[in-house]
Amino acid sequence: MRRIAGVSLCALLVTVGAVSGAAGDRPRVRTASAAARDDDCPPDRQGGHKGGGLAGERGGLARETRPRDRADLGHDQAVALLTDLSRTLRDRFGTSDEGRLDATLRRAKRVTVPVRFHVVHSGRKGKLSKAAVRRQISTLNAAYSGKRGGADTRIRFRLASYDHTNKASWFRNPHKYESPMKKRLRKGGRGTLNIFTAEVGTDVLGFSTFPQRYRSNPRMDGVVVDYRSLPGGPLTSFDRGYTAVHETGHWLGLLHTFEGGCVPPGDGVSDTPYESDPAQGCPEYRDTCLQSGDDPVHNFMDYAHDACMTEFTAGQGRRIRAAWAAYRSR
Ligand SMILES: [Zn+2]
Repeated sequence: MRRIAGVSLCALLVTVGAVSGAAGDRPRVRTASAAARDDDCPPDRQGGHKGGGLAGERGGLARETRPRDRADLGHDQAVALLTDLSRTLRDRFGTSDEGRLDATLRRAKRVTVPVRFHVVHSGRKGKLSKAAVRRQISTLNAAYSGKRGGADTRIRFRLASYDHTNKASWFRNPHKYESPMKKRLRKGGRGTLNIFTAEVGTDVLGFSTFPQRYRSNPRMDGVVVDYRSLPGGPLTSFDRGYTAVHETGHWLGLLHTFEGGCVPPGDGVSDTPYESDPAQGCPEYRDTCLQSGDDPVHNFMDYAHDACMTEFTAGQGRRIRAAWAAYRSR
């Protein structure tokens, strides 16, 4: 469990919640956790897309469960992020109603995010090709446009730059060297997505910063993912590039769908039903909370295997656009 005190970094393994434009709209009761079972993905879906540009890095590192990321927030942290968003929206636009904002903000129609992609490697290890990076950008665009299922968030990404840094210490321990790495490589302002790849580890596949943190710590803004998690990488079950999709979701303002378990406000998004704990493996169905709705086990902000992640919801799209307007549009 990687809880980062008081902050905003997120990672892919465990539990986080969601906030909705109207936090607290879903009454919650904690239920016995319906144990996320490690039902494996169908064999034909596991480890697909091999052979895609991660030179010399094959080997099928297997793990059953998605490692937690740093976005495991405590209840107070999640509420603080949601409250900050509502307050910022009211101050700037006179309302925190995300549906109304969506209808009135012309710029909410479509946002194309420039991506500065930083490949940190150790010699040949982790030295991703530009083709591999382009596949990751394509995967981001497919996920955020609804091509895998679910809603079109109206967020798109374009590769603005790509660079390599051969530095073994940063590569092997991007947690420890996060600060010097970002200070040296990060480019652009609040609306530029900086993605760093390194050997993040198999206990944590990636971590990210929330947009609420940009004002106080702009130089640490960005997403870090394990280089083996890119499309075609050797991390069995996590090899479709959805680690970057998930971490970018945090960067855009989304919390985990399991944030807070069955306790309000959860992730604060009205159309992602509460779930008591992260979905693991590849469940077809779960319903772990008494509130209405089945667990969103196929959501990109849950923790299922890549092959089982297919969607963002319309509510998450509104949340992203609202958070963009509040924190990243200027
Ligand atoms: Zn996460």
